[in-house]
Formats: sequence, structure tokens, C-alpha cells
Amino acid sequence: MAIAPVQVKRKTRIIATLGPATSDYDSVLKLLQAGVNVIRLNMSHGSHDHHRQSFALVRKAAAKLNRHVAIFCDLCGPKIRVGLLEGGSMRLRSRSRVIITTRKVIGRDNVIPCQYPALHKDVKPGDRILLDDGKLELKVSKVEGRDVRCRVVYGGELKDKKGINLPDSQVSSPSLTANDRKDVAFALEQEADFIALSFVRSADDLRKLKRVMQRHGRELPIISKIEKPEALENIDDIIAESYAIMVARGDLGIEIDAARVPMVQKDLISRARSACRPVIVATQMMESMIVDSRPTRAEVGDVSNAALNGADAVMLSGETSVGKYPLQAVNYMSHILQEMEKWQARNPEYLRNVDMNVTYSPRRALANAAVTISHDLDLFGLFVPTSSGITAGVVSAFRPSQPIYGICSQPTTARRMMLHWGIRPVALTQPEHQDWDDMCQQVAQVLKLKLKNQSIIVLAGFGKRSYNNQPVLKILKY
Ligand code: PGA
Ligand code: MN
Repeated sequence: MAIAPVQVKRKTRIIATLGPATSDYDSVLKLLQAGVNVIRLNMSHGSHDHHRQSFALVRKAAAKLNRHVAIFCDLCGPKIRVGLLEGGSMRLRSRSRVIITTRKVIGRDNVIPCQYPALHKDVKPGDRILLDDGKLELKVSKVEGRDVRCRVVYGGELKDKKGINLPDSQVSSPSLTANDRKDVAFALEQEADFIALSFVRSADDLRKLKRVMQRHGRELPIISKIEKPEALENIDDIIAESYAIMVARGDLGIEIDAARVPMVQKDLISRARSACRPVIVATQMMESMIVDSRPTRAEVGDVSNAALNGADAVMLSGETSVGKYPLQAVNYMSHILQEMEKWQARNPEYLRNVDMNVTYSPRRALANAAVTISHDLDLFGLFVPTSSGITAGVVSAFRPSQPIYGICSQPTTARRMMLHWGIRPVALTQPEHQDWDDMCQQVAQVLKLKLKNQSIIVLAGFGKRSYNNQPVLKILKY
């Protein structure tokens, strides 16, 4: 059976987060049918048993639809939270004085407990403490033992367990908490396709995660969530050490001025693209659809622009995990992307808008040439035998107008390619043909492509093991 058409038409990928609104087989099946390419399991919520069930549901639905669907586990990381408050909430008056404490108390009378034990060590007078996605703001006036005395800058109702951000402080907690380590073991056990690391600050954080995985005997490709100002300072090293990055606009827009996020998003996309790494734009893309059946004009513009900026994937969080309209959100998102891509196809200068001439490698040089040739000669498509998926990923980063067929033997590789813009993965049982013609015929058969009177381009041979490390760039005529 051929791969469902929705994957063929749309090049920008859609990622959906599962949650209470989408935790049964029927909902998952419908999400995939509506065009979700990658599933995110958020380790901040839900038990391992629950996530184990989600893995099984997604795999069953993907098999039923005969589609490659990637799954990733998103590690919680050192998210700092408010502890328990008496009655579940507390009113903070602007300009009043409050104490945030790391003592184990129930919050009352302007004393707020914090679950992060080193808070009093990490903050200094003058630092801001942001509560509940930055809706409330405190300023530190004095640290006394485990108590941090603050002045309320922006007050309001504070509920317990809400997130805390410390944009002015050096947070000393490791990027991989004890809980994250358990989640890493779980993700490996479930053979997730990727693992996402929250609050990445430097490339060292990624090397640490890699070492932890190596101790389990296997490494998953890492998606680095860019949501700290320190990450922006170390961005090129972080990109080099990552498989992919995510513009995690939720926390990023609290940690830095939210007005800077659109430009940071553009910059991160350009940098990731020139390094041939996939890039995801995430958070609040269709936020109003958590409660309404239609997105706002601003949200439509945001989704369209993220793709136009050159993102590989756009992500839904609350919209699909807890929202009232998860399916409509995916359908609408897919529709927006397809409309944009139709326009982009007529204006290809907006497709290849990232400067790709930054570093030289044979793989990049030949991928670039293949994309140019397939465009200039208006070829049928690019056929890329790829054992790890890397060559197909590099071709994708150059954004050809013609379809990319990523030909591999492992379903793991096929799923991995689902995070990359525009690759159509094909898993053949016997891909390492030296006979290119035979291989392309097989692909055409599986995907029901009509090659007669068409010309295609084949690009392969950069992996250490494949094709004797002998690069091949070939045009075949049918
Ligand atoms: P989160 O990450 O949803 O895990 O917080 C994404 C973001 O901060 O945007
Ligand atoms: Mn976040």
C-alpha cells in the first residue's frame, strides 16, 4: 500500500503532543490520519505506564495506516515549580513583600514554598523571579538563609505547582535531574526515535546526556530545546552537538524579552538550517484552539511564518494534549501549511532563503549540486539511498522543489526522516543495491510512481559503510 497522500503534498512536518484529550486509540488514529508526522510524549506529565501505552497506541495506528511516524520523549529538565499552597492558591498584591522559601512548608501568609532546593543559593538581590509563565513578577531584595525576601512587581492570583523562571540568575541545578535519568532509561527501553532535552545551556549538557545513554548501551538522537539565554550564547556549539533543535517559545519568551522571540526564531532557524539540522518551532501556535474551534488570524500568520522562516516542523502542545479541538487544530495547521507551500512553490526564492554556503564537505557540496541540477533540469525527484538518514537530511536542508525519496532498510531510519522537511521515506528490505536502476524501480513500485519518460537524480555513498564510501551523483533516464 502506498503512503497516505497527506504526507506527499505537505513538506513541513506537524508534531502533536499527546495528553488526556488524545490518549485512546481512536483519537491517536485520527490525529495521524489528519496528518501528524511526529508524536511528542511530554515526560513532565503522566506515568511511565501511561506513556508505555501511548507508544503502543501510536505504533498500532501507524502500522494500520502504513505510515512512518516518529515518537519522541520530551524530558522535563530542571523546571522549577512553586510548592503546595494552603487552599491551592494565594493572592499576591503588587508592591507587597513576600518570601519564597526552600524550607518544606505549606504556603500561607505571603510565604511561598519552592520545590527547587538551591533557589536561595542561585538568586541575588535585584534578580527577577517570574511565576506562572511570567504572569507574576517578583524582585529579590534580600536572601536570609533559606528565605528569599522579595517585592511583588506584578501581582495576581498564584496557584500551586506553577512554574518559576529565573531569567537573571545562574541556575546551578544540572540539566539532567534524577527524574530525567529514569525517563532516559524509559525512552531507551521503548525505543523512542528521539529524546528532547529541556533548558539546554551548553553543548556540555548534551555530552552529559550522551554519556548517560551510552551507559545504557545505545544513543538516541537529541533534540535540544532552546529556552534559556545561555543557550543563545552557545548556540553554534549546541547545534553542532544536537540532532535537531526546538525553538521552545514558551519558556524562551519568559527567559528573554518576548518581543525578541520572533527574531531569535528566525536566527535559530537559519543557523540550524545552515548546519543541516532539523528545526522545530513550538508553543502557542494555535493556542486559542484549546477552547475555540477556529484559530485567530494571528495564529494562522504565526504558523505560516514559522514555515516560511524555514522550519522543518511546527509543534502543537496544549492544543492536542488537553484542548477541546485536537483534530481540528491538526487539520487547520495542515491546511495553513499547504496554502503557504503552494505559494512558496511559485516563489522558490522563499524556499531557499537560508545561506547554505557556510562549511564545505563532499556531502554538502554534492547535495547542493543535486538540488540545483534537479531544479534546473526539472527532474522527477531526488533518490537518496541513506543508511543513517543523514544524506537525505542534508539534501532536505537545501530545500529542493522536487520530491526527496529517502531510501533505507531500517524502519528506525525511515521514522527519523519524518522530522526533516519534505523527505518521503521508503524502507526497502534490500536497499544496498549497486544497481541504481533496479533500486529506483523498486522504490517506484512501492510508492506507485510513474517513472516512464522521466529523469531522476541519485545521490549516495557518503556513509563510512555504504557503497564503499564512494560518492555517487547520477542522472537516470526512463
Ligand atoms: P515545554 O517546552 O512545553 O516543555 O515547557 C516548550 C516551551 O517551553 O516552549
Ligand atoms: Mn519549556
